[in-house]
Amino acid sequence: MESQPDNGILHLVGVAPDVTARLHEELDVVLRIETMESLDTLYSRFQEGRRPADTVLLGMEIEEPVRIAQRIHTYDKYIPILILSLPARCAQLKRTLMFSPFLGNDVIPWATSEIDELSSAIRHSVSRRQQRTRYLNTISSAQIRLETLPLLQPEATHYLDQLLDHAPIGVLTVDLNGSILTLNRQAMSLLRVSERSALGRPLEEQFPDHERLHMRSLLQQALDEMNRQRPEIFELIESISGSIRFLEITPAPLAYRTGQRGAMLILQDVTDRVAADQQRQRAEDELRFYATVLRTFHEISSNHELSLGDKLHRLLKLGCEQFRMPIAILSRIDDHLFCIQDSISDHPAFMVGVTKDIDQTYCSATVDSNDPVAFEHAGDSDWCRHPSYREHKLEAYIGVRVSVASGLYGTLCFASPVPRQSPFSSADFEILKLMSQWVGNELQRERTEAHMRKLSGALEQAADSVMITDRERRIEYVNPAFEQLTGYDRDEVIGQKTYFLRSGVHDEEFYQTLLQVIDNGGVYRGVLVNRKKDGSIFHEQKTIAPLKDDWGAITHFISTGHDITDLVRAEEQDRLHKAELAHVGRLSVLGEMTSGLAHELNQPLCAITTYAQTCLRIIQNNEYSPDEIRYGLEQVVRQAELGGAIFRRLRNFARKGEIRQQRVNLQDVIHEVAGFIRAEAVQSQVQLKTEIARQLPMVIADPIQIEQVMLNLVRNSMDALSNIEAGQRRIAIKAGRYKRNWVRVCIIDNGRGCSLEIVDRLFEPFFTTKQNGLGIGLGISQGIIDAHGGRLWLESNSDSGAMFCFTLPSTREHAS
Ligand code: ADP
Repeated sequence: MESQPDNGILHLVGVAPDVTARLHEELDVVLRIETMESLDTLYSRFQEGRRPADTVLLGMEIEEPVRIAQRIHTYDKYIPILILSLPARCAQLKRTLMFSPFLGNDVIPWATSEIDELSSAIRHSVSRRQQRTRYLNTISSAQIRLETLPLLQPEATHYLDQLLDHAPIGVLTVDLNGSILTLNRQAMSLLRVSERSALGRPLEEQFPDHERLHMRSLLQQALDEMNRQRPEIFELIESISGSIRFLEITPAPLAYRTGQRGAMLILQDVTDRVAADQQRQRAEDELRFYATVLRTFHEISSNHELSLGDKLHRLLKLGCEQFRMPIAILSRIDDHLFCIQDSISDHPAFMVGVTKDIDQTYCSATVDSNDPVAFEHAGDSDWCRHPSYREHKLEAYIGVRVSVASGLYGTLCFASPVPRQSPFSSADFEILKLMSQWVGNELQRERTEAHMRKLSGALEQAADSVMITDRERRIEYVNPAFEQLTGYDRDEVIGQKTYFLRSGVHDEEFYQTLLQVIDNGGVYRGVLVNRKKDGSIFHEQKTIAPLKDDWGAITHFISTGHDITDLVRAEEQDRLHKAELAHVGRLSVLGEMTSGLAHELNQPLCAITTYAQTCLRIIQNNEYSPDEIRYGLEQVVRQAELGGAIFRRLRNFARKGEIRQQRVNLQDVIHEVAGFIRAEAVQSQVQLKTEIARQLPMVIADPIQIEQVMLNLVRNSMDALSNIEAGQRRIAIKAGRYKRNWVRVCIIDNGRGCSLEIVDRLFEPFFTTKQNGLGIGLGISQGIIDAHGGRLWLESNSDSGAMFCFTLPSTREHAS
């Protein structure tokens, strides 16, 4: 559709004729193009107030086009202006325009190189201008209508009132004197007033007494100062419930059409917000308070300069401040007795040392509870029937049990004769629990320390040497007894491994066995031969035990020991003495056997002589056969061997030496004894019999010593048979298994036995009933059998004979 020429006006100033012609050609159908002769012509058009151009095109002939554009915009800043320029100047113009604050946006430099699009740009500018003009016209017509509004005031006021009534905020106006002029429904509701009772009344009357001055000053400020004021909060008290509400009131100055001045107040119920604020504030205050309490608590508990007693006392004081209670008590409960260990109170009933029945105290309830027990006002509750209340009238109480090593120690409590205004908070409970835990831990620690002091004192005083090593056997502790025994100072050995004590007496296998026992958690007991600092050797009776942690893992080893060097030496000496004595005993037996032995030796000697003489005789007669001579010599050799055997036996028996323990078949020993004694037995006309059980277990023994014992017993029996008629004299040696792993040997005779009065003295050294007796035979024999782990005793005794028995453990018994 073709536009009408008066759809817009384009003014051209300083535009070259060819451009003007072209624009006419392209735009005449849609615009009215007016060429201004000069800038003044253009300005006068504005000044005359005639219809202004819809777009102005400044041509290339215009100097300082930006300044010109500024001037045009002083007349009408909504007119689009296009400035025609060479392309090079165009960019510069754009920059200048960017920094020209007094120009409207619609000033566009247009390069001559884009002359083809100029018409279309002009059309757009004109259309923009026309749209804007339409918009401005609408606004101004609305303004005109608004200006006529006061004429319609009753309706408008009603409308506004309705609007305000539905507003969620209270709106209230007052005059210069502070009397209410208007108030909406929300304001009435907030102030709990009706319109009738409120209108014309001073606003401050609607507020409680304590807020009236506050309101007056707020109004004064609103009236004095023309700016909007900051909101302030007012406290209102409900007349019926007494509950508190908070109103936030924002004042603003107001000028009425009449010129009279007043104020408008915006009212908002902020009770919830204020309550939340107050709550947050309270919580913050509480938190800050608890933080301070905890800090003080920490300061007390970590102060190493204070004794436990001082710390506890300070803790009680802190509790008094914390719970705002004047009385504090730390009690210890023994059975049913409540004993005050420490307290803060002037009252004689709560002094340190006072004891009472637990049921007479509030703490009777506390000890049975894991959580603190507390009440704020005993008189107002069931607590008023408690015996303690009747006695002391303590109204408020908070207490908790104190446990030490999971057992009851006592209680920690705070009390006041005055009821407490606010209830105890959960933080109070937590702090009290914390205090009780700390007290429990500290008391436990002190107990442990006292115990440790006792133990370490005992270790230091102990006569036994004590050494504690870590798992790697590095020494951590030695006691003075260790220092004394080894000659090493504590400082020399701490941190060392224990090898330096080794004497070299034990082989590596010995130590391996020892370590195996303790590394497996067992206790080693044995004698260790160690070396002192001075190089001397000592025997120590040692016990080495592992120390384990709560999980059963070995952390240390503790070894205790005492020097038994003297004992070992004494035993050695004793052993030597015994061997000596046994030797003497053997010699004495041999002495007694001389005639028998001489007779026994005589036999082979006689036989040798006879055989030798016979051989000589045969040789002298020259009538001999070599066979006869050989036979004779063979007999000589045999008899010499018999004699040699007797000597060997004698030599063995008389040998002086160490005890030699070995596996022994007692049958052999019995045969040896029988061989020894046989000649004497024949001489004395004693019938000697041996009875040896088959499969007699082997024993571990020194055969010579056992032989000696048997010989002693057999010889005693021979002596006992001297009074018995020849031909009736009998001795039996019997050997058999005894109990499970033992062997028993008995020597039985049919003599007259021992008279009852001497039976108890038989084994005494040097006790004898014989004229030439030494009285050592039975004593030595008993000592030998004892040393072998067996027993020798008089089994039966009567006037028809005596039976002496001894036992020896078999090899199997040794092994078990
Ligand atoms: P001794 O033989 O030198 O007297 P012993 O110690 O061997 O010393 O014996 C002590 C005493 O025990 C003997 O003097 C004797 O009175 C008594 N006695 C030992 N064996 C017998 C026995 N088989 N029958 C009777 N009395 C005995």
